[in-house]
Amino acid sequence: MNDLTDLYQSVILDHNRRPRNYSVLPTANRVGSGNNPLCGDEVTVYVKLEGDKIADISFQGSGCAISQASASLMTLNLKGKTIAEAEAIAGGVMNLIKTGQVDENELSDLSALAGVHQFPARIKCATLSWHAALNAAKGEAQPVTTEKGSD
Ligand code: ZN
Repeated sequence: MNDLTDLYQSVILDHNRRPRNYSVLPTANRVGSGNNPLCGDEVTVYVKLEGDKIADISFQGSGCAISQASASLMTLNLKGKTIAEAEAIAGGVMNLIKTGQVDENELSDLSALAGVHQFPARIKCATLSWHAALNAAKGEAQPVTTEKGSD
Protein backbone atom coordinates (compact mmCIF):
# COMPACT_ATOMS: atom_id res chain seq x y z
CA MET A 1 0.00 0.00 0.00
CA ASN A 2 2.96 2.34 0.46
CA ASP A 3 3.49 2.60 -3.28
CA LEU A 4 -0.16 3.49 -3.74
CA THR A 5 0.05 6.08 -1.00
CA ASP A 6 3.04 7.64 -2.71
CA LEU A 7 1.17 7.68 -6.00
CA TYR A 8 -1.80 9.37 -4.41
CA GLN A 9 0.44 11.96 -2.80
CA SER A 10 2.15 12.73 -6.08
CA VAL A 11 -1.21 13.35 -7.76
CA ILE A 12 -2.32 15.63 -4.92
CA LEU A 13 0.95 17.56 -4.94
CA ASP A 14 0.93 17.90 -8.71
CA HIS A 15 -2.61 19.30 -8.77
CA ASN A 16 -1.80 21.63 -5.90
CA ARG A 17 1.28 22.97 -7.67
CA ARG A 18 -0.40 23.22 -11.06
CA PRO A 19 -4.14 23.44 -10.47
CA ARG A 20 -6.17 22.78 -13.63
CA ASN A 21 -8.92 25.16 -14.74
CA TYR A 22 -7.79 27.70 -12.15
CA SER A 23 -9.42 30.90 -13.36
CA VAL A 24 -12.55 32.99 -13.32
CA LEU A 25 -14.74 31.64 -16.11
CA PRO A 26 -16.02 34.66 -18.07
CA THR A 27 -18.88 32.67 -19.62
CA ALA A 28 -20.07 31.19 -16.32
CA ASN A 29 -23.75 31.53 -15.48
CA ARG A 30 -23.57 29.74 -12.13
CA VAL A 31 -21.25 30.34 -9.20
CA GLY A 32 -20.84 28.42 -5.98
CA SER A 33 -18.51 29.02 -3.10
CA GLY A 34 -17.57 27.35 0.10
CA ASN A 35 -15.17 27.68 2.94
CA ASN A 36 -13.80 25.38 5.56
CA PRO A 37 -12.95 27.53 8.58
CA LEU A 38 -11.36 24.61 10.42
CA CYS A 39 -8.53 24.62 7.90
CA GLY A 40 -8.87 28.04 6.25
CA ASP A 41 -9.76 26.65 2.83
CA GLU A 42 -11.79 28.77 0.44
CA VAL A 43 -13.04 27.86 -3.01
CA THR A 44 -15.23 29.50 -5.62
CA VAL A 45 -16.51 27.36 -8.48
CA TYR A 46 -17.62 28.82 -11.81
CA VAL A 47 -19.96 26.79 -14.01
CA LYS A 48 -21.20 27.42 -17.52
CA LEU A 49 -24.44 25.49 -17.56
CA GLU A 50 -26.06 24.66 -20.91
CA GLY A 51 -29.41 23.04 -20.29
CA ASP A 52 -28.56 20.48 -17.63
CA LYS A 53 -24.98 20.04 -18.82
CA ILE A 54 -21.83 21.48 -17.26
CA ALA A 55 -20.35 22.83 -20.48
CA ASP A 56 -17.41 24.42 -18.72
CA ILE A 57 -16.14 24.72 -15.18
CA SER A 58 -13.33 26.45 -13.35
CA PHE A 59 -12.36 27.39 -9.81
CA GLN A 60 -10.31 29.74 -7.74
CA GLY A 61 -9.40 29.41 -4.13
CA SER A 62 -6.83 29.21 -1.45
CA GLY A 63 -6.02 26.79 1.28
CA CYS A 64 -4.29 23.50 1.89
CA ALA A 65 -2.97 21.19 -0.81
CA ILE A 66 -5.82 18.72 -0.39
CA SER A 67 -8.52 21.35 -0.86
CA GLN A 68 -6.91 22.86 -3.95
CA ALA A 69 -5.97 19.54 -5.54
CA SER A 70 -9.46 18.19 -4.95
CA ALA A 71 -10.95 21.26 -6.65
CA SER A 72 -8.60 20.84 -9.60
CA LEU A 73 -9.53 17.16 -9.97
CA MET A 74 -13.19 18.10 -9.59
CA THR A 75 -13.11 20.47 -12.57
CA LEU A 76 -11.45 17.85 -14.77
CA ASN A 77 -14.01 15.22 -13.87
CA LEU A 78 -17.22 17.26 -13.99
CA LYS A 79 -16.62 19.16 -17.22
CA GLY A 80 -19.02 18.00 -19.91
CA LYS A 81 -21.20 16.06 -17.48
CA THR A 82 -24.90 16.49 -16.84
CA ILE A 83 -25.96 17.55 -13.37
CA ALA A 84 -27.18 13.99 -12.70
CA GLU A 85 -23.84 12.56 -13.78
CA ALA A 86 -22.00 15.15 -11.70
CA GLU A 87 -24.05 14.22 -8.64
CA ALA A 88 -23.23 10.55 -9.15
CA ILE A 89 -19.51 11.27 -9.53
CA ALA A 90 -19.50 13.59 -6.52
CA GLY A 91 -21.34 10.98 -4.47
CA GLY A 92 -18.74 8.39 -5.40
CA VAL A 93 -15.91 10.76 -4.52
CA MET A 94 -17.38 11.66 -1.15
CA ASN A 95 -17.83 7.98 -0.38
CA LEU A 96 -14.25 7.37 -1.45
CA ILE A 97 -12.94 10.16 0.76
CA LYS A 98 -14.86 8.93 3.78
CA THR A 99 -14.19 5.20 3.39
CA GLY A 100 -10.92 4.99 1.49
CA GLN A 101 -12.49 2.31 -0.69
CA VAL A 102 -11.27 2.66 -4.26
CA ASP A 103 -12.98 1.51 -7.40
CA GLU A 104 -10.16 2.14 -9.85
CA ASN A 105 -12.33 1.58 -12.91
CA GLU A 106 -14.87 4.18 -11.98
CA LEU A 107 -12.82 6.87 -10.34
CA SER A 108 -9.48 7.02 -12.21
CA ASP A 109 -7.37 9.97 -11.05
CA LEU A 110 -9.89 10.68 -8.32
CA SER A 111 -8.58 7.62 -6.53
CA ALA A 112 -5.82 9.89 -5.26
CA LEU A 113 -8.37 11.36 -2.87
CA ALA A 114 -8.78 7.98 -1.14
CA GLY A 115 -5.64 8.81 0.84
CA VAL A 116 -7.56 11.56 2.63
CA HIS A 117 -9.46 8.80 4.40
CA GLN A 118 -6.43 8.38 6.68
CA PHE A 119 -6.79 11.97 7.89
CA PRO A 120 -10.36 12.50 9.15
CA ALA A 121 -9.68 16.15 9.95
CA ARG A 122 -8.98 16.76 6.26
CA ILE A 123 -12.16 15.22 4.86
CA LYS A 124 -13.91 18.59 4.71
CA CYS A 125 -10.92 19.97 2.80
CA ALA A 126 -11.44 17.38 0.10
CA THR A 127 -15.22 17.57 -0.15
CA LEU A 128 -15.47 21.39 -0.08
CA SER A 129 -15.13 22.05 -3.82
CA TRP A 130 -17.50 19.21 -4.75
CA HIS A 131 -20.25 20.68 -2.59
CA ALA A 132 -19.55 24.11 -4.09
CA ALA A 133 -19.72 22.70 -7.63
CA LEU A 134 -23.05 20.96 -7.05
CA ASN A 135 -24.44 24.07 -5.36
CA ALA A 136 -23.35 26.09 -8.37
CA ALA A 137 -24.76 23.69 -10.95
CA LYS A 138 -28.08 23.32 -9.14
CA GLY A 139 -28.37 26.94 -8.03
CA GLU A 140 -30.03 29.92 -9.55
CA ALA A 141 -28.53 31.62 -12.57
CA GLN A 142 -26.47 34.56 -11.53
CA PRO A 143 -24.05 36.99 -13.07
CA VAL A 144 -20.39 36.42 -12.45
CA THR A 145 -18.50 39.20 -10.81
CA THR A 146 -15.11 39.55 -12.37
CA GLU A 147 -13.95 42.35 -10.15
CA LYS A 148 -10.42 41.78 -8.98
CA GLY A 149 -10.29 40.75 -5.36
CA SER A 150 -7.37 40.08 -3.14
CA ASP A 151 -5.85 36.65 -3.38
ZN1 ZN B 1 -7.70 22.12 4.18
